Amino acid sequence: MNKKRMPVIFSGHGSPMIALADNEITHEMKRIGRELAETYGKPKAILAISGHWYVDGTYVQNAARPEQIYDMYGFPKELYEVKYPAVGSPDLTRAVQTALGSSVSVNDSWGIDHGTWTVLVHMFPEADIPVVQLSVNRRLSAAESFELGRKLHGLRDEGYLILGSGNVVHNLMLVDWDNGGGTAAAVRFNDFITDAVISGRKEAVVQYGMHPDAGYAVPTPDHFLPLLYCLGAAGDDDAAAFNKVCNLGSMAMTGYVWGF
Ligand code: ZN
Repeated sequence: MNKKRMPVIFSGHGSPMIALADNEITHEMKRIGRELAETYGKPKAILAISGHWYVDGTYVQNAARPEQIYDMYGFPKELYEVKYPAVGSPDLTRAVQTALGSSVSVNDSWGIDHGTWTVLVHMFPEADIPVVQLSVNRRLSAAESFELGRKLHGLRDEGYLILGSGNVVHNLMLVDWDNGGGTAAAVRFNDFITDAVISGRKEAVVQYGMHPDAGYAVPTPDHFLPLLYCLGAAGDDDAAAFNKVCNLGSMAMTGYVWGF
């Protein structure tokens, strides 16, 4: 059965080493991708919103063959050999321009970054679905990021998958490589956001900064804002969580699917 409107996905990515992992988290990413394709058919293209393209503007890519970029440092050589050779989609780029009007401009100075490809190597390992990245605009407030996401809603009816990649809890300064779980603050914030997403309390997610652990969980907004873009694009669709786990102490890998 092919339902028409594509779901929306937000995935945690955490350490780039997730690209090489074979564990419960990556198995869930694979399951989501497989079940989505089985239920909805393969997306026409993927609009990827990665916390690693965090810039002073709203930009969309238009390259026929976007470059895969290795925007992380000091990891083992094999991570820099992971290939995800997805092509671009001029049709999706145009659809984004139509949806966002003059607030978006084409920019091919970036590429498919590790926030995107470390998830996609598991979710859609064939790399046979075109990928276009949309930047995360650091000039927008949380509420404005959510509003931008709302304008992307219609893309889903055209067969495009919206995929945000970031982390609900992401504090690199306080990462503890020996902690397989999360600190109390990480777990509290992750639980709070997840409950709010699942119960449809969008304003609580947009106003995440009011939570007492927000300073710890979201010291900078780059990895959280992709969630707000997704939340906007989700409309009134029901949400479910996957990979609801914390790791490295100050990281949450929680993902959500809407309309799935
Ligand atoms: Zn990251």
